[in-house]
Amino acid sequence: MSDLSNKTVVITGGARGIGAEVARKAVAGGAHVVVADLLEADGQDLVKELGERARFIRLDVTSEEEWQRAADFAVAEFGRIDGLVNNAGISTGQPLETETVEHFRQVLDINLTGVFIGMRTVIPGMKANGGGSIVNISSAAGLMGLALTSSYGASKWGVRGLSKIGAVELGTSRIRVNSVHPGMTYTPMTAQVGIKEGEGNYPNTPMGRVGEASEIADAVVYLLSDAASYVTGAELAVDGGWTTGPTVKYVMGQ
Ligand code: NAP
Repeated sequence: MSDLSNKTVVITGGARGIGAEVARKAVAGGAHVVVADLLEADGQDLVKELGERARFIRLDVTSEEEWQRAADFAVAEFGRIDGLVNNAGISTGQPLETETVEHFRQVLDINLTGVFIGMRTVIPGMKANGGGSIVNISSAAGLMGLALTSSYGASKWGVRGLSKIGAVELGTSRIRVNSVHPGMTYTPMTAQVGIKEGEGNYPNTPMGRVGEASEIADAVVYLLSDAASYVTGAELAVDGGWTTGPTVKYVMGQ
């Protein structure tokens, strides 16, 4: 368990799925957390479960004003922001040729511009505090060309790139920026498209199973913690090996 004692972490899209597991593990690691999400009822239930070191605030990550309000709230409640997990996102899939411009813009707005606004909002405070850790949730779709993900995949490649730019610009300010790339993970998002917990051999993943939200959360908590003090600009695939490349099932000569 990575130690997050005395750190305050803001988690977007934190009311359910991967974000909620990050919140649970961060609190277990000693952090104060601010769960920020559109889903007010789920978010309130979660912070009740997590106890006195957790708060909820409604946040639409596409809104600069709401971002500033959320950051001010975190500082008012817990004094500072040490970690930001840009996890909120939407996932959709359709062929490139039938994707609409309007929908493409909407996905980029939430999944990429939302991450950019979040980073920009917390950077001044982190600089003033002497550092911080930003973890941006990209996807396996941000590491490879995945069919039917023109808007989603483009947004997640963008998140990967933005993370590297942040790492380079903010390194000497002791702000680390890393991206995490989940493979197919069982959450409410993927349950909606028929993914089942522990489903075998999807989608040709070397480990032969779907991931659990808690397995992604472990990687995020590591990157938030001082155990990752020299890790920045990294792209951490937590995907059961999905993005290793084509799976070779035979060995020459056998
Ligand atoms: P999830 O269960 O749908 O949770 C995402 C949360 O983000 C939801 O509570 C959602 O609320 C919220 N959200 C959406 N738009 C928002 C906005 N504009 N402002 C604030 N919150 C917003 O999804 P998940 O599977 O945990 O995914 C979390 C992250 O991991 C996403 O960035 C996703 O792309 C990434 N990821 C997931 C997988 C996977 O297999 N699950 C794989 C690779 C990457 P609403 O329900 O109201 O939209």
